Amino acid sequence: MTYDARMNEARVLVVEDEARIANLVCDNLEDEGYRIMLASDGDAALRAAHAGGIDLILLDVMLPHVDGFEVCRRLRAEGDRTPILFVTARDLPPDRVRGLMVGGDDYLVKPFQLDELLARVHAILRRKGWSGRAQAAQVQVGNGTVDFERGEATCANGSIEPLNRKELGILRLLVEAHGGVVSRTDILTEVWGDEVDPTPRTVDNFVVRLRKKFESDPAEPQYLLTMRGVGYRLREKGALRTS
Ligand code: CA
Repeated sequence: MTYDARMNEARVLVVEDEARIANLVCDNLEDEGYRIMLASDGDAALRAAHAGGIDLILLDVMLPHVDGFEVCRRLRAEGDRTPILFVTARDLPPDRVRGLMVGGDDYLVKPFQLDELLARVHAILRRKGWSGRAQAAQVQVGNGTVDFERGEATCANGSIEPLNRKELGILRLLVEAHGGVVSRTDILTEVWGDEVDPTPRTVDNFVVRLRKKFESDPAEPQYLLTMRGVGYRLREKGALRTS
C-alpha cells in the first residue's frame, strides 16, 4: 500500500480506553507519519477536540463517562465537522446505523486488520481534501481562485461563493494532478466514497457547476476540460498563454 507523503502530517485524535489497542493504533499511525493525540475517555476526547487542530478522530464507542456516540453527537451539535471514524467492537447493524446517524463518517469493527484501518484513515483524509500544511491554501483555477482553507471560491466574475465538500474534493484532485487527467471513477471513489447512489453523471453535473464559477465562458471551457470517455483535467492558467 502506498501513501502520499503529504498526507501524513495530519493530526489524528485516537480515543480508546483499552491501552493495548490504543498502543497498537497509535504506534502504527505514528509509523505512517501521522501526528497522534490520545484520549482515554469521552471527556478527554471532547477537551482535545475543543482545543482544535485535529484532522481526524478515531472514536471508540464504549468509553468511560461519555460514550463515543455521545461525543460525536455533541461535536456535531457544536458545529464541529472534523471527520470521525468509529472504531468499535459493537458490530450490530443498529450500532453502525446509529454511528452514522449521529454524524460519524465511517465505521470500523474490532477486531480489524491494520491495513484496513490505515486505508480508511487515508481515504477519509483524502475525501476531506486534506493534503498537508505545505499545500497552498489558495490556488488559481481558471479565471478564479479557490481558497481550500476557507472553503470558498473567488469566481471568474469576481464574486465570492462558498464551495461544498464535494466541490472542494473535486478541485483538490484536479489541482494535485497538475494538468493530468483525473478519471470519473477516481473522483467518485475519492470524493463520494461509500455513498451509494452517485453515477458518473453526478460528477459531470458538479463539473458544470464548477465551470460556472471558474470559466469566463462556461459554455466554452478553457480550463476545466472534459477528456471524453476518461474524465477531466484542469489546464493550469499559465499553460494557456502560449498563443
Ligand atoms: Ca472501549
